[in-house]
Amino acid sequence: MAEHMSCIFCDIISGRSPAEIIYEDDKVISFLDIKPIHFGHILLVPKGHYVDFLEIPEDNLHSLIHATRVVTDAMMKGLKPDGYNIFTNNGVAAGQSIFHFHMHITPRYFNDEIKFMLNLKNYKETEMKKFADKIRRKIQ
Ligand code: AMP
Ligand code: ZN
Repeated sequence: MAEHMSCIFCDIISGRSPAEIIYEDDKVISFLDIKPIHFGHILLVPKGHYVDFLEIPEDNLHSLIHATRVVTDAMMKGLKPDGYNIFTNNGVAAGQSIFHFHMHITPRYFNDEIKFMLNLKNYKETEMKKFADKIRRKIQ
């Protein structure tokens, strides 16, 4: 599997750096986030060094989603939180800080005061169709 020099997640995958590993198969590894949103916050990482979601080869996607489900199910049964978020940051503008793709899976609790600060917008007249068209044209 292609590794990247000076990538902390590649170091964890190869065993050079320690991690609290939750799950592992031939394509995916999952371990606890060292700075959790809540205790039990999990990261799930493809073993190949793919920078972001779009770099992941098609034949890895099923393993990734399957492992996400297995790990989330275990987290819900093991920790019994009130809910969970599954999310991924892609690109600096989106908050990515480690450039080896990863999913975050974090427990959530009622009244945990964690909020994404959103500034929701309203489309004007035909703008919504324009944005949909720009995307639809590129569907492959
Ligand atoms: P992101 O900002 O989406 O790229 O997330 C990177 C995540 O990796 C952060 O939540 C960090 O706390 C976490 N992280 C960084 N180094 C380690 C490490 N050695 N072991 C576990 N998690 C880590
Ligand atoms: Zn890596």
